[in-house]
Amino acid sequence: MEKTLFSKIIEGEIPAERLHEDEHCIVIKDINPQAPFHVLVIPKEPIASLSDAKENHAALLGHLMWQCGQMAEQAGLKGYRVVINNGRDAGQTVDHLHLHILAGRSLTWPPG
Ligand code: AMP
Repeated sequence: MEKTLFSKIIEGEIPAERLHEDEHCIVIKDINPQAPFHVLVIPKEPIASLSDAKENHAALLGHLMWQCGQMAEQAGLKGYRVVINNGRDAGQTVDHLHLHILAGRSLTWPPG
């Protein structure tokens, strides 16, 4: 199976600004930020999308969500948004699950 873009970043084949790493995930700055603060929380396991996560991924999914809170606290964010784009219709472009954390500007609702 071909490595995903994010697997290549995890393995250091493609450079990225890494803010955090643990045994389950990395956190990097988004290369094309949509807000002053825009980072990606990426599991090391290359699950293609949220739809592809299985019940045995529940603890990992919880870890990723918890890590979002940790990153926000570390960055001193008051308000922030956590986004998962699932599938092309929702704007997913990289087929390796990732959570966006966006902050630093007023975020409208509903999102576009
Ligand atoms: P999505 O559209 O939800 O699949 O999100 C993919 C995100 O990955 C986009 O926000 C891109 O800007 C970001 N991205 C793509 N390539 C890189 C890269 N080399 N380093 C960091 N972020 C990237």
